[in-house]
Amino acid sequence: MEFPVYLDHAATTPVAPEVLEAMQPYFSEIYGNPSSLYSLGQAAREAVETARENVARVLCVSPEEIVFTSGGTESDNAALRGAAEANRAKGRHLLTTPIEHSAVLEPLASLARQGFEIESLPVDSEGVVDPQEVARRLRPDTTLVTVMAANNEIGTVEPIGEIGALCRARGVLFHTDAVQAFGKLPLDARALQVDLLSLSAHKIYGPKGIGALYVRRGIAWTRFQEGGDQEKGRRGGTLNVPGIVGLGKAAGIAAEAMESESARLSALRDGFFARLEAEIPGTRIIGNRTQRLPNNIHFCVEGVEGEPMLLALDAAGICASAGSACSAGSTEPSHVLLALGLTRELARGALRLTLGRQTKAEALDYTLQTLAATVRDLRALGAR
Ligand code: PLP
Repeated sequence: MEFPVYLDHAATTPVAPEVLEAMQPYFSEIYGNPSSLYSLGQAAREAVETARENVARVLCVSPEEIVFTSGGTESDNAALRGAAEANRAKGRHLLTTPIEHSAVLEPLASLARQGFEIESLPVDSEGVVDPQEVARRLRPDTTLVTVMAANNEIGTVEPIGEIGALCRARGVLFHTDAVQAFGKLPLDARALQVDLLSLSAHKIYGPKGIGALYVRRGIAWTRFQEGGDQEKGRRGGTLNVPGIVGLGKAAGIAAEAMESESARLSALRDGFFARLEAEIPGTRIIGNRTQRLPNNIHFCVEGVEGEPMLLALDAAGICASAGSACSAGSTEPSHVLLALGLTRELARGALRLTLGRQTKAEALDYTLQTLAATVRDLRALGAR
């Protein structure tokens, strides 16, 4: 077995060798600015457009509807601020969920300070949004609904197709943060009736610091980042050509492997869950069992804190997470778990294991054994 046993693919993934190879020439050989007219620039431009086609194909949209960004966080900011601003005259009511990533929650909080009204939809104890609750809350002044495609902590997959249909019928824009779902679940943005969709390369074996925003043709949306006419005026700034090439390559590979990887990982995940409940008493699986990302394992261990568990796992060569990477280091229980109705005490014992391409059954066997011993020791110490 190889060490470290990396089980934190929701935080980030290694760049795939094929992706690295595809990116390499664009650092120091084909380094032209894609906005330049000479052939060195145009060669870079061609690579960017090929990547745009690859990303568009995975989402079943037109390449012109893809805007490259610096990652998921920028895509979320651009989607929300751009849609809220462009539709300000129509209304200021925006709908969201309490389990979004901070890349959505923080721009919304800032829009609230600018006079927008942000309303949070309820989620059930597995983190699922009921589309009927969306229907009930849509108002004449609602301009945007944002619901993530899949949750980064607990892996719950949301009914975005139903929500998209409701929004479209009422003339309300629908954004989805698909950073965790892209490349893992089929996402046909047209069929799902999504208007804006955020994605990021580093969750799918691409490089960090590059992502994209799908902006459906013709919607009312204003650009977020000013400073140049790049991306047909939709995002100023010299394009990150190697990053874009990497994203395009990574998206193509993920789409091709999606079906087989999804089946393989779901089987590993479900096998782990079955053994977890049988072998470690006092564990509680969090999130929906079936409407779930294939690579997400999330549970809480009663009577034990997440942090000492993580440290013990790290000492045994296992990389895991107590929640989202962004809140790592904080002892506050996750806002996602609290929104599901978990007690603060139980939420402090949360552990997330997210599997990836290199994850084999033996790594999960080892993790389960290590975890069982760790929980036994920590409970014996009364370490809470
Ligand atoms: N949205 C979700 C659901 C995420 O999981 C993440 C990353 O953790 C982001 C947004 C931010 O993406 P990026 O790291 O590319 O800025």
